[in-house]
Amino acid sequence: MKLPTRGWVKAALHAHSKRSDGRLEPEDVVAFYRRAGFGVVALTDHNKVTKVAQPGFVPGIELEARAEGASGSYHVVVLGLDAEPPESVRRDANKLLEWSRGNGYFAFIAHPYWSMLSGEDLLRVRGYAGVEVYNHGCEVEISRGYSGPHWDYALSRGVASYGLAVDDSHNYSLDALGGWVALDIGEADGEEALKALFEGRFYASSGVAVESYEVGEGLLRVETSGAAHVKLLSGDTRGAYLSVELLERLASAEGLPVELERWEEGGARFYRVKFGGTVAEVQARGRSIVRVELRGELPARKYARLELYDGEGRGAWLNPFPAR
Ligand SMILES: [Zn+2]
Ligand SMILES: [Zn+2]
Repeated sequence: MKLPTRGWVKAALHAHSKRSDGRLEPEDVVAFYRRAGFGVVALTDHNKVTKVAQPGFVPGIELEARAEGASGSYHVVVLGLDAEPPESVRRDANKLLEWSRGNGYFAFIAHPYWSMLSGEDLLRVRGYAGVEVYNHGCEVEISRGYSGPHWDYALSRGVASYGLAVDDSHNYSLDALGGWVALDIGEADGEEALKALFEGRFYASSGVAVESYEVGEGLLRVETSGAAHVKLLSGDTRGAYLSVELLERLASAEGLPVELERWEEGGARFYRVKFGGTVAEVQARGRSIVRVELRGELPARKYARLELYDGEGRGAWLNPFPAR
């Protein structure tokens, strides 16, 4: 898979309006994100579907539901629906997810960490298409915005899903413009947005831009606006951590069990490092990594995924591969 093919469009996929506990009217939520450069906006009020007649608008809802044995309740966000789900499925997470899937709606688990769900709880429910790997509102309010380990737990046990970053905005101050999804759809269109979500043609971000991403047989290549460090996480436990600082230390160290080459070309610095059957080539400018290419054995028997972070802790989260 190579991305983007059409061009990135920013999407806000979890936002509240005055129809539930948000501070702005629905139209003003859409206008707020439009002004900030977003092409796609979903309204996901608690228990209520609201539509705004605007290109790039996606109707949605957030519901609280339960599953037997779970340590807490699930907040489930459903996108693409025309009206509220029937009462009979609203409070049962598995029924709600099955109903969503059956009707072609995109459902994801909101803020597992904020909900104090465990990784195991993500195995008690089936049929969700995504998990919020980052929820900005939960992060700035109580520092429980990052749910990477929950997601990894489910992925490593064979429950495939995509990773989303969202605002979950209510106040449209600190809790907004800190988490979004970049969709490969070229132009603002709600239908295309849903299609891209189902196909995984997107990445999640809180500030790091991914310019291009390619993954195929024995090859992974990512180009970015600049990352202080890049993490490869794998279901086979073999991951990798790359930063300019670490590569510089490796370049000057002796007697390490890695082979490292370092060279400069056209104002950029390059590193080539071998670990196991994998060769990583990294291109850097200053302290920032701008390109990573992995060739050879990719540690992705179960799955692998990439996280990129800048010096301020803002990230980008790519969807796991192989895509299933
Ligand atoms: Zn919630
Ligand atoms: Zn919410």
